[in-house]
Amino acid sequence: MTLKTPEQYVDSLRALKIRAYVNGAFVEGSVVDHPAVSPHVNTVAKTYELAHVPEHAELMTATSHLTGETIHRYTHIHQGPDDLVKKIQMLRLLGQVTGTCFQRCVGLDAMNATYAVSYEIDEAKGTDYHQRFLKYLEMVQREDLMVAGAMTDPKGHRAKKPGEQEDPDQYVHVVEQRPDGVVIRGAKLHNTGGINSHEILVLPGTAMQPGEEAYAIACAVPADAEGVIFVFGRQSNDTRKLEKGCDIGNTRFGVVGGEALIVFDDVFVPNDRVFLNGEIEHCGTLVNYFATWHRANYGGCKGGNADVLIGATALMTRILGTDKNTIVKDKLIEMVHLTETTYASAIGSSALGYQLPCGSWMVDPISANTVKQNITRNVYEIGRLSHDLAGGFIATLPGTDALDNPDIAHWVKKYYAANPDYDVEERIHVGRYIENATSVTTMVEAMHGAGSPQAQRIPMLAQANINAKIAMAKDVIHGKDDVPGLPLPMNDL
Ligand code: SF4
Repeated sequence: MTLKTPEQYVDSLRALKIRAYVNGAFVEGSVVDHPAVSPHVNTVAKTYELAHVPEHAELMTATSHLTGETIHRYTHIHQGPDDLVKKIQMLRLLGQVTGTCFQRCVGLDAMNATYAVSYEIDEAKGTDYHQRFLKYLEMVQREDLMVAGAMTDPKGHRAKKPGEQEDPDQYVHVVEQRPDGVVIRGAKLHNTGGINSHEILVLPGTAMQPGEEAYAIACAVPADAEGVIFVFGRQSNDTRKLEKGCDIGNTRFGVVGGEALIVFDDVFVPNDRVFLNGEIEHCGTLVNYFATWHRANYGGCKGGNADVLIGATALMTRILGTDKNTIVKDKLIEMVHLTETTYASAIGSSALGYQLPCGSWMVDPISANTVKQNITRNVYEIGRLSHDLAGGFIATLPGTDALDNPDIAHWVKKYYAANPDYDVEERIHVGRYIENATSVTTMVEAMHGAGSPQAQRIPMLAQANINAKIAMAKDVIHGKDDVPGLPLPMNDL
């Protein structure tokens, strides 16, 4: 089995004994059937479904460099710029089909980062982490598993490093080294898709210093391993997932990724699932590799999401009867311009990728960071333009239960009517979708996912090579030309 069907993905999740709490209550039975989680399961199921659609096979699948088998691109190690470009194209496609976050990219980037760094540790120290990871990866590819990457620690007091925290569990750490494995304790926050994954790939969330060896741990844990507990996060308007009618927004696929707090309450991890254990000097590289791939992604997935939002906004202008107005058209153009700018940067970052020592391929770092930096602004600006064109009613509209009450339904229909080609329910449905797709949860995810804005600006300064730019400026201003310049034109005035 190298390409699961969506039904096989859902059935395989149902077979797991995932311990999860949603709205404070333990989920009896499977998380798959919980209405707060099921939209996010549906989104991931789409990633499995499209791999079986012939017209999308080139983007959704790849050839394993380990086995030569056809595998899902979400389990693939990038073998060249072509793979990197196809990944971004795949993300845009999935963003267009679901209008939300499809979650599997975090695990993909975590696997690529672990693949590269386990190789580098082995080269430097003669360990066997890479061989262990290759066996793990082969299993993931063969069974087409969903792997969630888990990186962000709670971090406690932000002015203190992992080893300085009053509570040592603020960063995931090893509490016991055993001959057959390790026991880990701590938690990871903001975890995308972990609650509906088969596997959790735990990575350090920051560079480590001498004395912090216990915090330098990368390992793979089954999502239903003993001691793993998920506490599901709330989202804007999330109780609408329980409703019917036209108030629901994107209830089929949900808002962003269905994030959770994952607690690791003394979880045993056998040696064959441990890929870094105490090598502090490699933690920074692992974080950096992961973040760089993931930052480029945003030009793809958010581009696809923006396509759906642009479509909903343009439809709303038709419903309102404003679509012929040139100012309205110009604002739609601006939404397209912002979307295509970030997508082009992500494609460029991929096309300009370079080969890592392990043989896999990394995106161009400065353009990847630029993609994510633009996303922290452009998603807000695209949402602002959508609000501008959709109108204030998305914030003041009565609930659709008003349409069920014969005392007031006729007034709601009368006073929310616009272009007679569209009924009021359609206006409400599209308006609620726009409200949903531009919600606080969506915006905050665009701001902080793959690192907060400053996390991109710091490496951008290093990657921009300002000293080289100063040298360029000096050459242009003061340098001696080897080729004589052309005479300046005479000024007749
Ligand atoms: Fe993938 Fe985008 Fe979601 Fe990250 S935010 S997991 S890149 S869809």
